Amino acid sequence: MFRGGLADHSEKTIMGHTATHLLHKALRDMFGEQLHQTGSNITSERVRFDFNFDRKLEDSEIAEIEKTVNEKIQENLPVHFEIMPLQKAKELDAIGLFDAKYQEDVKVYFIADYSKEFCGGPHVNFTGEIKKFKIIKQENIGHGQRRIYCVVGE
Ligand SMILES: [Zn+2]
Repeated sequence: MFRGGLADHSEKTIMGHTATHLLHKALRDMFGEQLHQTGSNITSERVRFDFNFDRKLEDSEIAEIEKTVNEKIQENLPVHFEIMPLQKAKELDAIGLFDAKYQEDVKVYFIADYSKEFCGGPHVNFTGEIKKFKIIKQENIGHGQRRIYCVVGE
């Protein structure tokens, strides 16, 4: 049973969760591949996303992240998954944790050729369903980690 920090499987929560894949990729493209998600919690009200980052994001950086994610939403990219052996997922350079809890076959979610990430779902079928993405708050949660809050939809 997939939880992945989703409070429920409402449409809004699924939109928010799918947005975290775009956000994760946008952050890594901006700051490098040492950056990774350390937690997430999603309700129909908001998306919470934690990652290893040891300073405040500048307003200009937040604007750039929002711009990138919203571009990917507007491109209405298709989302699909493939189940594949762990080794193949590693070769594809899918984002995710490669720890012992993942055995042999893993599920990788693709957002067109933009993002590849281990995940159990659920997701929207096309990124356009997310409509809009906005970062509303950031905070330092210690241990070199940053937390951002976002909202999706209209
Ligand atoms: Zn996912």
